Amino acid sequence: MTDPAGQEPTAGVAARLREVRAEIARACAETGRDPSAVTLVAVSKTQPPERVQAALDAGQRVFGENYVQEAQARWTPLRGRYPDLELHLIGPLQTNKAGPAVALFDVIQTLDREKLARVLAKEMAKQGRRRRLMVQVNTGLEPQKAGIAPDDVAAFVALCRDELNLPVEGLMAIPPEGDDVAPHAALLARAAADLGLAQVSVGMSADYAVAVRFGATCVRVGSLIFGARPAKPA
Ligand SMILES: *Cc1c(COP(=O)(O)O)cnc(C)c1O
Repeated sequence: MTDPAGQEPTAGVAARLREVRAEIARACAETGRDPSAVTLVAVSKTQPPERVQAALDAGQRVFGENYVQEAQARWTPLRGRYPDLELHLIGPLQTNKAGPAVALFDVIQTLDREKLARVLAKEMAKQGRRRRLMVQVNTGLEPQKAGIAPDDVAAFVALCRDELNLPVEGLMAIPPEGDDVAPHAALLARAAADLGLAQVSVGMSADYAVAVRFGATCVRVGSLIFGARPAKPA
């Protein structure tokens, strides 16, 4: 991937955040929606601390991370300085990391199987914390990808909400690479509306504006804001 940040990723972070916000506002204006109803999650996974600090300095408070341990190391010390931080887990969650994930994240977007739902319910009870959840939907029916099949979402959400009393507030999807995001966002938005769920999380650097036009309420934008990512931590 080319680095949209060019030679000086850190210096450009504030400007690119402004551009992304303006683009979201345009997409909302075109479709008669309120831009304040769209959450921009700045995806900071594997990014160097100075770029993340530049986003904090620019007023960004909602961040997405993929790896529990990396996120703990980065954000635990920053919580005290930025009490209004909102951290989203957007990467797959192993059940053995459910404890630290519930302790750290305000929103867990990758609830993708029954076993994890049961473990999260137990952890939240144990820690006395209710964390907002989204159910990951495999809108592209990709065999290798996590997520609940679209046909099974209603039953899974019912299990989570009614049996386990989990605070599910939306649906999330990672469409197949190279696919047009529009039909995936539309499917997800319709499914969320049918289930009375407010949040629709879809859209990344390449396609977040289209995703908003088709109903996304939460977009996850990383490299466009921060520049190309260094490799995943070991
Ligand atoms: C990394 C990641 C993103 C951000 O991707 P960019 O293309 O850098 O915007 C969004 N969503 C998920 C689930 C990711 O893992």
